[in-house]
Amino acid sequence: MKTSFILSAAESIRDAILDHESELESLDRAIGDGDHYINMKRGAGAIVELHAELAALSADAALNKIGLKLLSTIGGASGPLLASFFMSMAKILKEKNDDTITTYAAAFTAGVEAVQQRGKAGLGEKTMLDVLIPVAQQFSALAASNADIKTTCQALMQTAEEGMLATKALIATKGRAASLGERAIGHIDPGAKSCQLMINAVCNQVL
Ligand code: ADP
Ligand code: MG
Ligand code: MG
Repeated sequence: MKTSFILSAAESIRDAILDHESELESLDRAIGDGDHYINMKRGAGAIVELHAELAALSADAALNKIGLKLLSTIGGASGPLLASFFMSMAKILKEKNDDTITTYAAAFTAGVEAVQQRGKAGLGEKTMLDVLIPVAQQFSALAASNADIKTTCQALMQTAEEGMLATKALIATKGRAASLGERAIGHIDPGAKSCQLMINAVCNQVL
């Protein structure tokens, strides 16, 4: 993976977050404490501002630095979770040190496993993992079947959207929305929405 890809993906992510201000804000106001948009905007903005520093690094070192920066800039539950994601992804990219879809899928999967461990959550708990877990599973399956990168990206965007939409019908068993019980039904999880936006932004960078 080239560092320049990470830099342009970071800008696309920041733009996607800014473009969805009212949606992200109202989702977290409905079932959380209303700060998810601000948290994501602060995190994405801090990464874009790191441009010059990141440009001098290898892709894995850049992703690790992104994780550390998110840890120190995003308050709230999503900060440490996303930090773990990027830092675990960096570790696999460094170990494998090649440019195959299999390596990218393995790195993404390691990132998702780190989120699961850190948040002690799994599928169906109305969190970002309802996007991340199915995307990781599909990414691995497509890599194993030698799918090309464009086909893979298109499929992953579709799966991310389905996972995000599926959170609407769920009650939450993790995160702030867990205290709402059935009142959380009917609202998409904000972290699932922002993860879907991020996956979309990165995939669109490839297509
Ligand atoms: P906070 O809830 O602390 O205000 P944010 O609003 O930034 O933090 O992020 C909330 C999002 O974090 C939720 O919508 C959910 O997707 C995600 N989240 C919360 N707890 C967990 C967890 N234990 N595992 C995975 N994701 C979680
Ligand atoms: Mg919040
Ligand atoms: Mg908060």
